[in-house]
Amino acid sequence: MTLTAKETLLQSVENNVDAYMHLVQTMYDNPEIGNEEFETMALLVDYLDKAGFKTTSGYIVPTGFIGEYDTGKPGPTIAVMCEFDALPEVGHGCGHNLIAGIGIATGEAVKKIIDQFGGKLLVVGTPAEENFGGKVSMSDAGVFDDVDVALMVHPGSHNGVGGRSSALNPIKFEFFGKTAHGCMPQAGASALDAAVMSYLQINLIRQFSNQHTYIHGVIKDGGEAANVIPGYASLEYYFRAPTMAYAKEITAKAMTAVEGVALANGVTFKSSVYECPYDDTVVNYLLADLLTEKYEELGLTDIQPVDEVAKGSTDVGAVSYKCPTIQGFIKICGPEVGAHTVEMADATISPDGKNGLIKAAQGLSLSILELLEKPEKLAAIKQEFDETIASM
Ligand SMILES: [Zn+2]
Repeated sequence: MTLTAKETLLQSVENNVDAYMHLVQTMYDNPEIGNEEFETMALLVDYLDKAGFKTTSGYIVPTGFIGEYDTGKPGPTIAVMCEFDALPEVGHGCGHNLIAGIGIATGEAVKKIIDQFGGKLLVVGTPAEENFGGKVSMSDAGVFDDVDVALMVHPGSHNGVGGRSSALNPIKFEFFGKTAHGCMPQAGASALDAAVMSYLQINLIRQFSNQHTYIHGVIKDGGEAANVIPGYASLEYYFRAPTMAYAKEITAKAMTAVEGVALANGVTFKSSVYECPYDDTVVNYLLADLLTEKYEELGLTDIQPVDEVAKGSTDVGAVSYKCPTIQGFIKICGPEVGAHTVEMADATISPDGKNGLIKAAQGLSLSILELLEKPEKLAAIKQEFDETIASM
């Protein structure tokens, strides 16, 4: 009996789920943080090798990788993204081990049917989502320039199609004063005073910012000893807004505030971008409709529509400016489990995690099948992308 393409996809995911959960468990047991995921990269690349992909390790960034399968026939280029970095202390508290399992499962399934249609399949290992933005480096290097659609699913406490994310501009302010004995303060200039005043002054910008702007910072260095006027202090800030243009506008206001404070305190200052800036995410509604349809077909319920209000930032934003992109969500725990917790990490290796992997990989696979079967659908998704980008 010959299986239909759809049956092949569904069965591929189900029949190999133990192997995928073994990958998920291995990552859970050996969590590696961003840019240090060498063993995880080797684990995933090894799997893709055996599944017949042409792989490259250390792709674009040291822990990035790609698995390619080219049918040699004309057709679309589909990219499935795998995140796989962990967090300090809470391990896979963001569930990126499950994202990798879902991506590998989707890749292996689609590889079995893509020859019937033509095109090229990429499984892209995008490291360091939490801190250094592997997708930003990869997008900048052109990895997604010729990609027709990029997809992934993130685990969480709900089923959904994702949506907007905030643009993030990470800025460090450093203050340089003059150290002096605590009882001879007139001989010094306090970098800490400038940092504290800047912190307060930047807080005042909030009231005059557009909705959904988030300004949050910490005093990173504030001196070493109470009897020394601090000669050095620093602040680290995240300026988040619905668009990068606006995040930069807010950053410029903060810069002016800090400039004034530095002058008033007789210190100098320097600012720098201390982490990778993240773009906001461009939503593709037709792609969101497609994943919703497939999730429903698989019996998933309570599928949240496009999230119009950003609840954080992600390096997926960078990809979403290059090609139609979707980051869906799959429920593996209840709402009482927060992101970036040990409980979330535990959920990835639970029965719900396993079920989530199956449904998410099947949902992505069926979505990709539809794009391969119906070029007009893909064309409409690309047209929406072009129009959205042009309107910005
Ligand atoms: Zn995450």
